[in-house]
Amino acid sequence: MKILISSCLLGEDVRYDGGNSSFAYNPNFSFSEKELFMDILCENEVYSLCPEIKGGLNTPRKPAEITSAEKPFKVETINKDDVTINFLLGAKKALELCLEENIKIALLKSKSPSCGNIQIYDGTFSNTLVQGQGLTARLLNENGIKVFNETQLKELEQFIKTI
Ligand code: SF4
Repeated sequence: MKILISSCLLGEDVRYDGGNSSFAYNPNFSFSEKELFMDILCENEVYSLCPEIKGGLNTPRKPAEITSAEKPFKVETINKDDVTINFLLGAKKALELCLEENIKIALLKSKSPSCGNIQIYDGTFSNTLVQGQGLTARLLNENGIKVFNETQLKELEQFIKTI
């Protein structure tokens, strides 16, 4: 099975702060969760992608949040720079890759304004989470690609068995 995975979860230093969100080294996850993550990597064909880098942003970069979560979307940095076009472009490139490679599943980093699939920050840079999706997760979902985050590995494993 082909799976698109957020590059930062794989340990690539693509985050806004120049670091990564490596699942394998995250102390918040148990050994068995890490084993499941590694099994998923080993048993499937992994496509690594960071939408924000694909959208033309650099690392490190200013943190950004979605300030308009409905169309027309708006994404701004903490300095109020408008980076919406970069986020939309990154989402489009992620979708293009999925369509070209017939990828039906994505494992994306939670809470990100690009990759979050259930919650995102509310646009006030006050560390406040709200229900919502990042722009890439949303576009993939709208196009029939099933999106999971790193806390949903068991659901992802079950889903793979059904297709
Ligand atoms: S855009 Fe997605 S892949 Fe890139 S750093 Fe943010 S959460 Fe990770």
